Amino acid sequence: MTSKIADFSKLCVHTQTTRPWGVESCVKNYSAAGIHGITIWRNVLENQNLTTVKALLDDYGMKVISLCRGGFFPSVEVARRESAIDDNLFAIEQAAAIGAPLIVLVCGADGRQSLEKSREQIAEGINRILPAARSAGVKLAIEPLHPMYAGDRSAINTLKQANDMAELINSDWVGVAVDVYHLWWDDTLKSEIARCGSLNRLFAFHVCDWNLPTIDFLNDRGLMGDGCINIPQIRGWVEDAGFAGFNEVEIFSEKYWATDQKEYLEKIKLAYVSRT
Ligand code: ZN
Repeated sequence: MTSKIADFSKLCVHTQTTRPWGVESCVKNYSAAGIHGITIWRNVLENQNLTTVKALLDDYGMKVISLCRGGFFPSVEVARRESAIDDNLFAIEQAAAIGAPLIVLVCGADGRQSLEKSREQIAEGINRILPAARSAGVKLAIEPLHPMYAGDRSAINTLKQANDMAELINSDWVGVAVDVYHLWWDDTLKSEIARCGSLNRLFAFHVCDWNLPTIDFLNDRGLMGDGCINIPQIRGWVEDAGFAGFNEVEIFSEKYWATDQKEYLEKIKLAYVSRT
């Protein structure tokens, strides 16, 4: 145990972390638990009146850290690339409506073409939606995903690739998201975190843990301290790079989703103060 004082002022929970809850339950329960940062996943906004959601967030003193997620730009099919643009433009409208200052991009990949081609289409896609993002006041964060997802979820797999792309696009509205789950293994991580920090492009920080063994590569993520990631070390690098934003708990876990979500929220708080 550490002697850290319990400070939850920079704690954010992703709605997907407590997947059994809809948006209203997330807002009410997080707020009751003293957690006032929330990242909203778009699935909980389906069939919701966004004005009502915004009012709910305000009533419970919730600060929206980001909207998850946009992206999925690449495809060998033109029609799918175009529908991805439409979907991202819609995400920007949703973000603006609920007061989210940032959209996290899971950039996408299409295994029927090269990773280089997918990356070209990602850059094209971001450039296409950038004017709308800027005029809505919504930033975009490129989130590198672990290379195990390179075939179908993201052709951006290292922080270096994300930084390269953000620098190529070169807009104050485009930066990167650092997620320890995807990046902990990378021996250039410390220097790449310093790189995006020095350019004010480090927009988001996501935490969870890498379970040993990992049973399912999507939905078996650990609570901080369950696995092998040195989260405090990476958090230190992120803070040294000038990041002063929220620490976002993003855990996809069939194991924890099957438990009482209020008790789980207390476990998250404990893991946050003692093992993050
Ligand atoms: Zn993430």
